[in-house]
Parts: sequence; structure tokens; C-alpha cells
Amino acid sequence: MAAPPREARARASQLREELSRHNYLYYVLDAPAVTDAEYDLQMRELLELEDRFPTLRTKDSPTQRVGAVGTTPFRKVRHRAPMRSLQNAVSETEVQQFQRRLEVALGLAPDLFAELKMDGLAVSLTYHRGELVRAATRGDGETGEEITANVRTIPMIPTRFVVDPSGDGGDLEIRGEVYMPKAVLVELNRGRRAQGLELYSNCRNAAAGSLRQLDPEVTRARGLEAYFYACDPPPSAVLTQHQLLDWLEAEGFPVNANRQLLVGGEGVMDLLAAWQSRRAELPYEIDGVVLKVDSLAWQGELGSDSRAPRWAVAYKFPPEERETRVLAIEVSIGRTGAATPVAVLEPIEVAGSTVSHVTLHNEDQVRRKDVRVGDTVVVRKAGDVIPEVVRVELERRPKGSVPFQMPACCPACGAPLVREEGEVATRCLNPLCPAQRLANLFHFVSRDAFNIDRLGPAVLQELLERGLISSPADLFRLTPEQLEELPGLARKSARQLTDALGARRRPQLGAFLYALGIPHVGRRTAELLAEHFGTMQRLVGAGPEELAAIAGVGPVLAAAISSYLSSEGTMSLLAQLAEVGVDPQVEASGGGPWLGRTIVVTGTVPGFTRAEAEGGIRRLGGSAASSVSRKTTAVVAGEGAGSKLAAAQRLGVPVLDGDQFRRWLDHPEVGPEAL
Ligand code: NAD
Repeated sequence: MAAPPREARARASQLREELSRHNYLYYVLDAPAVTDAEYDLQMRELLELEDRFPTLRTKDSPTQRVGAVGTTPFRKVRHRAPMRSLQNAVSETEVQQFQRRLEVALGLAPDLFAELKMDGLAVSLTYHRGELVRAATRGDGETGEEITANVRTIPMIPTRFVVDPSGDGGDLEIRGEVYMPKAVLVELNRGRRAQGLELYSNCRNAAAGSLRQLDPEVTRARGLEAYFYACDPPPSAVLTQHQLLDWLEAEGFPVNANRQLLVGGEGVMDLLAAWQSRRAELPYEIDGVVLKVDSLAWQGELGSDSRAPRWAVAYKFPPEERETRVLAIEVSIGRTGAATPVAVLEPIEVAGSTVSHVTLHNEDQVRRKDVRVGDTVVVRKAGDVIPEVVRVELERRPKGSVPFQMPACCPACGAPLVREEGEVATRCLNPLCPAQRLANLFHFVSRDAFNIDRLGPAVLQELLERGLISSPADLFRLTPEQLEELPGLARKSARQLTDALGARRRPQLGAFLYALGIPHVGRRTAELLAEHFGTMQRLVGAGPEELAAIAGVGPVLAAAISSYLSSEGTMSLLAQLAEVGVDPQVEASGGGPWLGRTIVVTGTVPGFTRAEAEGGIRRLGGSAASSVSRKTTAVVAGEGAGSKLAAAQRLGVPVLDGDQFRRWLDHPEVGPEAL
């Protein structure tokens, strides 16, 4: 065997070192410094070097290991069987090579089972005599972190089996992926931006950061979900991967409905292409499709190497990245006065939509990426949701460009911009700043708040400038005649707008609380407060101790809410809103005809926003859940319903359309079958 040349040795050692560092940043700190595509390129280079010169394949090489463990505050637990990674394929050819390897080993083309590759983090759940006794992260594959208390806060994860399936009282291990839905990440980041906190760059990091929290209450408030795909040992009657997933689902575990059996591996390429183009429609992030040999016996026969099983491959989608130019860097002022630098780009199509503005988050982030006006930048959508600047093409930087400098004064009101010691955000502290006022009004009418979609920023700005409004309460005093005067608003639209405002005078309490823009209170926390207190009067009368005792609130948030509610400005706003007839509706607390019923809303239900539909369910005492199981009373399916609708059909759960749901709300005493 030829000894590796000096350059190969040096390069391998450099790659080992870099990949180990990236593993630590990614797996332990949830804060990667490079994109997955860049990481994968380095990994491939090291694998190729090691294939060419096998003596370079050291035992501790990142090619031989999975993940990483660092010094974290969690108790370490050893996995019963190693939690491995997956071999990956980045092209059709590599998928065909995988299929060929299987054919050679098994003597025929086996049935394959295709599952979506969830972009979250793997968890292992141990059930002893049917009870969940331990949950752990993958860690380095041999040893993970104990996160039982945190996993227990994820509502869709069953804590016990109805009948212990292990039979002999032995342990059963269920494995799957915990993830954060895209919409939850958007809301979480919105809240973090308002607090001047570092944003999560994608759903995976957010899920990992949320699950590995010291305080399980923080995890609870993060809206995590999970899908499961493995069980060890599998029940004796289960012989294939597809039967295993059906069994898990029947036992009440959330299982992704987007799964498919490919007889003899036929149709793989079409399936991969279909998911690549449909990826953006999914409510969660996937980074590929996992193909598994369907027969469990053959899986056992094929076995695993130290890093990954030989019977599965993860086809990874290529990231969609596009180049464009930075035309300007503007500073926008948010509701709380936080000044956010935003890159204005030459418009470009990325992952299905046009991107012309990308947030650069804060001064430190712009410095770190060193984005300048005139630069050519690479843009992509993090998890197909939030556009971001991946990097600057430095060699194409125009001569004479200058680093970004945060302006000294607020671009909207001219007050000095202040960055407090230890804070990430720079803020305009002027409470009368028109940009803050506009952002507050816009928040008040936004979809999850009062949901008046005809009131965009341009109309609000015009109304402010004409002195027709200054606080949200003024919106309800507007007359069609006043609105008709605005440029671009015809008589009919003016009337529709006042009608829409009139129709929203009785919002649900959760939406009302969210609309107020209480610092750090997102839609989810607003809903928690509404559920707990039921009325505005009870909430206003609560002290910080009572607030802090609510699961998912905690002392810091409680203090912020309490100080907001007792401030003079809030009192006056609440009085003004009451004066114009805004009356938040009381939610049912602990009673109602739907008590004990669980209803899942999926897709866009005509005539309802998601918050309205779920609020209606809660008002009648029911609980609005996000995953379908055999215990679900009914699924309300609107346009674009996908996996949850399919799950309902498979499990025989009644499915209602928008009209049936409306009838049910009017006649809550009947069962869903009667509609
Ligand atoms: P992986 O993410 O490529 O695949 C293995 C994992 O897929 C499993 O552990 C499981 O958690 C998950 N998975 C999701 N859906 C699944 C399903 N249906 N069936 C089975 N498993 C499923 O491997 P990995 O070892 O977790 O991570 C390696 C990848 O992580 C790299 O390819 C790279 O993209 C990324 N990474 C990036 C950095 C960085 O610095 N950017 C660092 C380390 C790793």
C-alpha cells in the first residue's frame, strides 16, 4: 500500500481538525459557523482522501464518528444500541449506486420504503413496562444527553402505552426526530428580535436549542413537534419498515403521513424529484428523503458500519442559493424601537418567491458577514422560510466600498440611536417615534391579532400623516367618508374596511392580548394567558407571582407583563379600546360542550384564520391539537390539507370541511358524525 504523500497527510489532518470544530459548534452549541453544504464538501474530501490512503483513516476521524458530545449540563446516558447517522447521496447517480450495492448484496432489487428526512434532531425514548422513563439526544451516537423532563413537555409524545407492547415487561426504545414547524420558528424569531436576542438561523438549530434547555418550561413554550420512525425491538408481528410505522401510528405516536413503499425500488427518481419541488409547501423543514430497505430481516442482514446502516441512504436536496447585488442597507425601526439593518437587493427568485429585502439582524451580524453596499452576495432561504445572506463574494467587491456603520440617529424621528452595554440591539428610545407607532399599528391589525388585511403599512402611514389616527382605538372611529379621501381607496373599499373593523370588535382574548404588543408576548404566550385568566379583568388584576406560576411564563416574562399591564399608557389604551366598543371575548375555562374533545385544524379553512378556528374550539371547551391520533374527535381540513388529512382518513377520524365546521360551532351539542 502506497504511503500517503506529505500534502495528503497534512490536508487530512487539517480537515479532521476543522470538521471536529464544526461538529462541536453544530451539535453542542447549536451555532454552526458554516453552511451544511460547505460542511458536506469538506467531509467528502476527507472521505475521498481516506479511501485513497486507508492509513489516513484514524479511529477518531470525523468520518468514523457521529455527532459530538461536549461538556454540557445534561446527564450523560449510554444508548442501548448505537444511534447512527445515515450515508448520504447528493445525486441520482449516488442513489443508483446505493440500489446497485443492495442488489449485489441481496441478489435482487429489494422493496424500498421512502420517508421524509426531517430536519430536526434525533431523540431516543425508552419505555419501561409501557411507561416513558427516559429520553435522550443522539450525542456522539454512543452517549447522549438525558432530556426526559424536556421531552415530556412536547404534547404529542405519548408518555405511556395503553398496553405494554414489550409483553415481558422489558424495555422498548422508540426513535424519531424532534422538529420545530416553520411557522413556529418565524414567531419565535419575531419575539427574539423584539427582545434584541440572537435569532435562530433555521428550524434545526431552533429545535436543538429549544430541546436542550435547562428549564423544561422554556421547552414547553417552544411549540416543538416530533415524528417517529424506529422501534427496538420491533413487535414480533411487524416484519417491515412500513408495517412498523403503521404500528407506531396506531399506538398513538406521531408518524409522518408522507411515506411510500416502492416495490423493487421502482419510481425512486420520480419520488425524489417530486419532493424536491414540493418541499417548500411543507409546514416543516426537510433536507432530503430517506430510502430504507423495507424488510427488517434484510436490514439485519445488511447491518451497519461504525457510522451508518448499510440498508438506508439519505438523499440530500441541493441547497438553493442565488447571487445578487446589495443596492442599499436601510435601517428599519420596529415596534420596540429596535433598529434592524436590512439589505435591499436586486430582486431575485429563491426557492419559489422573489426576495428583495433581507434582514441583517443587527450591527454585529453585519460586521461579522461584512456586507457592504455594492457587494455581490449569495442568498438562500434558511429552511425555505427566511431569506438570509450566506456570504459575500469578496473577490467581486467593488473598489472603494465602505464597511456598514449604524447611523447615529433614528431615520424616522431623528432621536439618537442607543446601544446599551451588553445588548445586541440598537434602539430608538423616543416613545413618540412615528416609525414605532406605525409598526405598533401594523402589528395590531396583523393576521394573528385583529386580522384586518386591508390595512397595510401604506394606508396606516397615510392615516397617521393626516392625523386621522394616533392610537389603535382611533381605527374603530374611522368613517367610510374619511377613508374615501385616501389615495387609492375607492368608496367600496372604504366601506369594506369600516365593515371589517366593525366585525372585529369582539376579538378572542388571545388575539386581543397579542395585538396589544406586550413585550416578549408572542401569539402562543398570549394564548396561554387567555386560557389561564379567561378575562381581561382577571389578567389585569393578577400579580407577577400568579403570572410566573403559569407553565411556559417564568419570572422574567411575568415581571415584563405585569409592568406593561400596570403602566399608565396601557391603562389609557385599554380604556380607549373599551370606549370604542372593543370587547375581547371570554374563553370557556374548564367547561363547555366540547370538554374532552380534541380537534385538529389543518390547511386553510375558508372563512377562518387558524387562530379563529382554534379559538372557537377552545371557547367551547375543546382542545385544539396539532397532531392526529386515534383519540382525535375530528379533523377540520381546509385547502392545502396534507399529511394530517391523510392520517385522519387512515385512522377513521371524522373529517369536516369549513361549512360543516361552521355548522358544528352553531350546534356544539351534536357529534361530528351528525354534520
Ligand atoms: P444526517 O442529518 O445527514 O442524517 C442522519 C439523521 O437523520 C438521523 O440521525 C436522524 O436524526 C435524521 N433523520 C431525519 N429523518 C429521518 C428518517 N425518516 N429516518 C431516519 N433518520 C432520519 O446526519 P447527521 O450525522 O445528523 O448530520 C450530518 C449532517 O449534519 C451533515 O451532512 C451536515 O449537513 C450537517 N452538519 C452541519 C455542520 C455545520 O457546521 N454546518 C456540522 C455538522 C453536521
